[in-house]
Amino acid sequence: MSDIDMSGIVSQLRSTFDSGRTRPASWRLEQLHRLKKMTTDLEDEIFDALREDLGKPAFESWVAETGFVSSEIYCFTKRLQRWMKPKKVRTPLANLPGSSFIHKEPLGVVLIIAPWNYPFLLAVFPLIGAIAAGNCAIVKPSEISSKTSAVIARGIQVYLDNDAIRVVEGGVPEATALLKERFDHILYTGGGIVGRIVMEAASRHLTPVTLELGGKSPCIVDRGANLKVTARRIAWGKFVNAGQTCIAPDYVLALKEIEEELLGYMKSAVSEFYGVDPKSSPDYARIINDLHFERLADLLDSGDIFTGGETDRTERYIAPTILRNVSPDSPVMVEEIFGPILPVLTISDIDEAISFINARPRPLALYLFSNDRSTQRKITERTSSGSVCLNDALMQLFVPELPFGGVGASGIGAYTGRTSFETFSHHKSVLRRSLRFDAPLRYPPYNDFKLKWLKRLM
Ligand code: NAD
Repeated sequence: MSDIDMSGIVSQLRSTFDSGRTRPASWRLEQLHRLKKMTTDLEDEIFDALREDLGKPAFESWVAETGFVSSEIYCFTKRLQRWMKPKKVRTPLANLPGSSFIHKEPLGVVLIIAPWNYPFLLAVFPLIGAIAAGNCAIVKPSEISSKTSAVIARGIQVYLDNDAIRVVEGGVPEATALLKERFDHILYTGGGIVGRIVMEAASRHLTPVTLELGGKSPCIVDRGANLKVTARRIAWGKFVNAGQTCIAPDYVLALKEIEEELLGYMKSAVSEFYGVDPKSSPDYARIINDLHFERLADLLDSGDIFTGGETDRTERYIAPTILRNVSPDSPVMVEEIFGPILPVLTISDIDEAISFINARPRPLALYLFSNDRSTQRKITERTSSGSVCLNDALMQLFVPELPFGGVGASGIGAYTGRTSFETFSHHKSVLRRSLRFDAPLRYPPYNDFKLKWLKRLM
């Protein structure tokens, strides 16, 4: 068990929350500005940690970690005061004179449990929403990306209000000890097995959860799509961070007649991005640990290697790999791949793709490359997934107005942008009546006349 006094930390945060300190917009904005300063001041340290943990190139560290966090904070600081305003809603005749509105109030003390694949982003992004909504928060980064976890812990300790925001580092013992405490919301990002553990623990305190899970995100390629552009976008979406991206295209379903051409373009895209020897490319990441390396290396036998397939245990390197002639029952098609292996399967028409996808757990993301509007509509309407991105990969994440989350096995709830603020707020209904006029219609003794009028007014 963990030696850290979790109850002590939680009750200290709870007394800060109860004092009302985190409620004013001024506190929230100040913490967000400090979080932005932390991100900027520590950028080099964060990049170094990400390189040590994942071999992450600085470019990717900026685009998908620090730069992304900074732009989210910027968006929040511009809009927060507007979002905090009570939202007026229509008041029916029966409640006039009066007015009704929805008041957003902070939830209390929230817990954020983060994974290792985008370890800075996925610890700090939810924290932005939690702070913006006026909560106290504990962040538990992943122990697997230990270098980034250490920078986050140190940064938050130095830059933020530690009576309200704390980091608890560690792995399963620490997470288990934290989950015994009562929180007012838990946002967990990671795999579904642990997601179930988190939800079970939360249920003991009736704590609501947001579960950001994973799954096998399909990528359909239709005839008529510009295959050169399609191939580049799929290859980028798959091989960025060496495939360790929750919304990476997991597998491709390509129309039979375009498979050959698509494969050719994808192979060219890989060598255009990473050269003939991706191992020596400074732009290609590594697998997080030996366990995941072994898991992925075993999946390489699931089909014919069209390109890639090379591995190096000492560096935990797996080349960007494309597999063809893959059976839907093969190991690579059972679990989420979460690594740089892209199986390409063929389909005879779009309906076959829909049946294939609908026969499996609902994915986090779904990609379709097609110029045909009716096909785009059909896929969007007849499949279910956390998000759909038409003619690109991963880019839906960079639209702040789009909520990010899964459905079914890929998650519960959503966050990012305004949705984060909503997720970490209680939407309290408020009705304000006037005491000046008191219509007697609802009071006993009841009669038909009163009922007739009430039916008209309600
Ligand atoms: P992980 O092993 O880092 O676990 C995630 C967190 O859960 C860590 O902080 C870890 O310490 C904690 N944890 C592990 N075991 C626990 C337990 N028994 N009890 C309580 N907490 C525990 O990450 P992972 O699970 O390997 O993450 C990979 C998965 O996450 C993939 O399925 C991926 O698709 C998914 N993911 C989803 C998103 C999203 O936004 N939806 C983002 C990134 C990753």
